[in-house]
Amino acid sequence: MSTESHADQIVALPLLINGEEVTARSGRTYESIDPYTGAPWVRVPDGDADDIDRAVAAARAALSGPWGQMTPTARGRLLWRLGELIARDADQLAELEVRDGGKLVREMAGQMRSLPEYFFYYAGMADKLEGSVIPTDKSNFFVYTRHEPVGVVGAITPWNSPLLLLTWKLAAGLAAGCTFVIKPSDHTPASTLAFGRLFAEAGFPPGVVNVVSGWGPGTGAALASHPGVDKIAFTGSTGTGIHVGQAAVANLARFTLELGGKSAQVVFPDADLDAAANGVISGIFAATGQTCLAGSRLLVHESVADTLIEKVVARAASIVLGDPKDPATEMGPVSNRPQYEKVLSHFESARADGATVAYGGEPAIELGGLFVKPTVLTGVTADMRVAREEVFGPVLAVQTFADEAEAVTMANSTEFGLAGSVWTKDVHCAHRVAAALRAGTVWVNAYRTVAPHVPFGGVGASGIGRENGLDAVKDFTETKSVWVELSGATRDPFTLG
Ligand code: NAD
Repeated sequence: MSTESHADQIVALPLLINGEEVTARSGRTYESIDPYTGAPWVRVPDGDADDIDRAVAAARAALSGPWGQMTPTARGRLLWRLGELIARDADQLAELEVRDGGKLVREMAGQMRSLPEYFFYYAGMADKLEGSVIPTDKSNFFVYTRHEPVGVVGAITPWNSPLLLLTWKLAAGLAAGCTFVIKPSDHTPASTLAFGRLFAEAGFPPGVVNVVSGWGPGTGAALASHPGVDKIAFTGSTGTGIHVGQAAVANLARFTLELGGKSAQVVFPDADLDAAANGVISGIFAATGQTCLAGSRLLVHESVADTLIEKVVARAASIVLGDPKDPATEMGPVSNRPQYEKVLSHFESARADGATVAYGGEPAIELGGLFVKPTVLTGVTADMRVAREEVFGPVLAVQTFADEAEAVTMANSTEFGLAGSVWTKDVHCAHRVAAALRAGTVWVNAYRTVAPHVPFGGVGASGIGRENGLDAVKDFTETKSVWVELSGATRDPFTLG
């Protein structure tokens, strides 16, 4: 691993407010760290409540400017154009995400190339947000509905997949005609600030999309509690999500919360164990386990547990750790120091709670920095911290079950409900368990796939609301009912007609 200082190569990125590239009003900046080198590599503005104020005012004004007057079809064309620009710049955007967050170029190149699909999908929806004519029993009225934009949306995103998770909000919200103030994670601001530049080039009027970076919780908190925001679309941890939801409620703003998970992969004895092992590896070690939908619990039938664990451990031991910029690397570093400390604390508490380390359970000291080994813990019980809390790292907690009922009870035993999987060849069992799992997404004989057309979100501590799919766009609209009196007759003013 390189440890040399990159201070001479530090690049600077500005905020985007009302179509202009600006500094924070305070003049403050901070440096973002490349988690692989450990060195700062980009300098960004440390925006605060003042900057959020400016951005919200710009987003509010944009609602009644050219954006608000634009036909839905024209809005759709802008979304399509934006998708084309993202496709053009996908490699550069991937590079920024790899530098800032330490994710693999191998994954991010593909992820950035998938972003346009979301904008194309919702571009087609912009002019299909049809209201309806309502046949009431009042024959003298013609009644119809309109789906109007909610207004100004505050989008707050985490560090693990900054542009993908932002796209899940932006594409649907812009299709609906909303405007945005975006607050990226303080750990990974670079890709979002750079991405903001594409909006002017695509032809979006100033103020439709604004980006304010800032260090610490204050900038996001200022956005979440801003009275000028009509809806908060948040992705992040459950703890922060609760604060954000409370702040939104205080202003009676709408909110969606995409939060953490502790998803279970349930493997029955008839499953293809090679396929299941591959799915388990993908679920917990891809992205160094730093995904909300990580399959961090393996629930396996006791009759095949040894065989499956052996396969998973063998593959975990062969995972190539290293430079995320190298396409051969399979697992990069943990994305930032607080997260690294959290993963180490889970190693410690799992041992103290009595779990067995079948593989890993320690930093990868030969690589130094923020690297930890892919970790498989067996003998885990439901009461252990590692079975209940989200680690958000490459740590698999294995539990065994005796029958389907026990598997379902175990799977549903955490406060989370984001995702899960069922591995079996028995179609009856697959659908029964898919229905019984308390989760927003269940894969059968697969793991870790998402698409613009498919709703995604959680229940319980994993969140409120869904992103993606046809219905997500409605979440960015308010329904207005319009009553048109047709007869011209005078009615009794003292009755509710
Ligand atoms: P986090 O909650 O620490 O931060 C998320 C965002 O909120 C960041 O932009 C942060 O700066 C901001 N923030 C922090 N304090 C705030 C406050 N008081 N008010 C408003 N905003 C505030 O989460 P993280 O560590 O960046 O991300 C990891 C978490 O995100 C994990 O729990 C993961 O499961 C979750 N996540 C969920 C999904 C999903 O779709 N369900 C997707 C990815 C990540």
